[in-house]
Amino acid sequence: MIRLRENTDLKEMTTFGLPALCGRLVEFSDPETDLPELDRQGILDGAVVLGGGSNMLFTAPAPDLTVIHPVNTGVRFSSRTEDTVIVTADAGVTLDDLCRQTCESRLWGLENLSGIPGHIGGAAVQNVGAYGAELSDAVESVTCYSLKSHGFVTFTKDDCRYGYRDSVFKHQHQDEMLIVCRVTLRLRVTPDLKLGYKGLRDALCEKFASGKNASFQADIEELTANGVSPMAVRETVVALRDSKLPAPSETGSAGSFFKNPVVTTGELERVISHWNEKEGNTHPLPYHITSDGMAKLSAAWLIDKAGCKTLAEGGAALWQSQPLVIVNLTGDATAEEVVKLEKAIIRQVESVFGVTLSPEVIHI
Ligand SMILES: Cc1cc2nc3c(=O)[nH]c(=O)nc-3n(C[C@H](O)[C@H](O)[C@H](O)COP(=O)(O)OP(=O)(O)OC[C@H]3O[C@@H](n4cnc5c(N)ncnc54)[C@H](O)[C@@H]3O)c2cc1C
Repeated sequence: MIRLRENTDLKEMTTFGLPALCGRLVEFSDPETDLPELDRQGILDGAVVLGGGSNMLFTAPAPDLTVIHPVNTGVRFSSRTEDTVIVTADAGVTLDDLCRQTCESRLWGLENLSGIPGHIGGAAVQNVGAYGAELSDAVESVTCYSLKSHGFVTFTKDDCRYGYRDSVFKHQHQDEMLIVCRVTLRLRVTPDLKLGYKGLRDALCEKFASGKNASFQADIEELTANGVSPMAVRETVVALRDSKLPAPSETGSAGSFFKNPVVTTGELERVISHWNEKEGNTHPLPYHITSDGMAKLSAAWLIDKAGCKTLAEGGAALWQSQPLVIVNLTGDATAEEVVKLEKAIIRQVESVFGVTLSPEVIHI
């Protein structure tokens, strides 16, 4: 079913809670019939897709903009083997509901992503990640409506070209727009603990093991032998998130505003020596070498050490326990204030470290 509304404020449909006028909001619940019809009428041309609105910033009123919003919410479990189950979720399914549902079914794959706001459609575009896991680890395929071919196309996981908060869906020209309609996941029946994130490993070992073992593998073996379930991991992750991040129901934000910068090792050396030369500096610069030999820096650390934590613009400020998050602190911030604050942070980090932050949040 298609539902059309003119001149709509998207404030309540985004987690930032900022005023965001769009000319036309189009909701659809049945991709197979609704999208070809909207395409025939030219309504998809130049449109933008809004999922759960948890990673979007509408920077200015957009009276000429059409916003497409999937509201299909089916979940289907199929083809169970000894090791895996295939789960297909419609784009409008809330990611955290899906995490809960799959954890309740004792399936492994989404537990570390518990508590991330937004829909599975948006998550497949952004390749969300947290606590040592990324959605792409579990993706089998993604089915989209293509504005280029005027039909449905299924992308295998390889076709999705997943990277850090990146996918093929983020690199389409306007006339090639892809609307994610459903996401198929391959989840594991057999235990598959992901302990790559130190804080999660520590918290799980504290609760469910005799202590932390010397090796990562020994921890996995002990926790598995002790029967740690996907639901236990989910609950631990949610508790960790609650201690650090603003609750979307109380404080508006779009989560991490900036991506962690990825630089070459040559660039890393330059940043380190520049930082080490600073008078009185006693904090070593944290980084992590990725599998392709690049260095990933911590944007939160750079923002903190560049002295940005106290920056604010009107109602927009940084979340004190996680300075990577710009929040709508007063509840009546504007997009203009958020953008001003974003620019001030980028400038300050650049002047202290010579590193340019890029936003994770999609600007419209
Ligand atoms: C408090 C908080 C905590 C967060 N924590 C995390 C975290 O730990 N890890 C993390 O990775 N992210 C995190 N995020 C960011 C955000 O939740 C994710 O990026 C989320 O997956 C976005 O999904 P969404 O449905 O809200 O997408 P939206 O914000 O609506 O859209 C994001 C992008 O995807 C596109 N899009 C959305 N749906 C579709 C579709 N069906 N077809 C085609 N394009 C589409 C949009 O056009 C836009 O470009 C957090 C956000 C908040 C507010």
